[in-house]
Amino acid sequence: MKKLIVASNNEHKIVEIKEILSKYSIEVLSLKEAGINIEVEEDGTTFMENAYKKASEIHKFIQNAMVLADDSGLMVECLDGAPGVYSARFAGEHGNDKKNNEKLLSLLKGKSDEEKKAKFVCAMALISDKGKAIRVQGEINGMIVCEKRGKSGFGYDPIFYLPEYKMTFAQMDSHLKNSISHRANALKKLEDEIKNLMEDE
Ligand code: IMP
Repeated sequence: MKKLIVASNNEHKIVEIKEILSKYSIEVLSLKEAGINIEVEEDGTTFMENAYKKASEIHKFIQNAMVLADDSGLMVECLDGAPGVYSARFAGEHGNDKKNNEKLLSLLKGKSDEEKKAKFVCAMALISDKGKAIRVQGEINGMIVCEKRGKSGFGYDPIFYLPEYKMTFAQMDSHLKNSISHRANALKKLEDEIKNLMEDE
């Protein structure tokens, strides 16, 4: 069976990616599960720069496996795309979801619904066993709501509202979120490429 190492230790993302790729006969491993302990600095100015950097750095240490890296975040229209690549550390401390949400809500006080339009973006870079690189990007549109709704998910999920579904990501069950999310949309684009790689290699 082919191995695919996801260049992340973010449990939420690994679970989502494993669920989305479960229909393929690919063994999906997190960095921890693959016994790899490498920190790659996310110092790029775009999601794709960060994703490709992570995948290529990790690929140097791996044999006979594909490496998939993603970089994702939230972009708010009236904030010129912020928090963007700084989504995880918007309020300073890396991964403090509560403070990140509070900072974003304070910046959006008094803004109209139109101004609170936002999207999640997910850039993915896959490097095959033989070093071929594939890059794709997925998005999902929504808007920021001023009070947290729902308990599922992580990050900005409680304040990211999808008018079409009349709920936030945190109010959705994981199957629904994982079928429409920015990561799902990026992975859908990767699927054909992965199929081709499986045939070629
Ligand atoms: P990274 O992609 O791990 O560098 O982190 C991106 C950051 O964007 C996370 O820490 C979250 O704050 C946010 N983010 C990315 N994807 C999602 C999502 O599906 N829901 C909520 N927040 C997300």
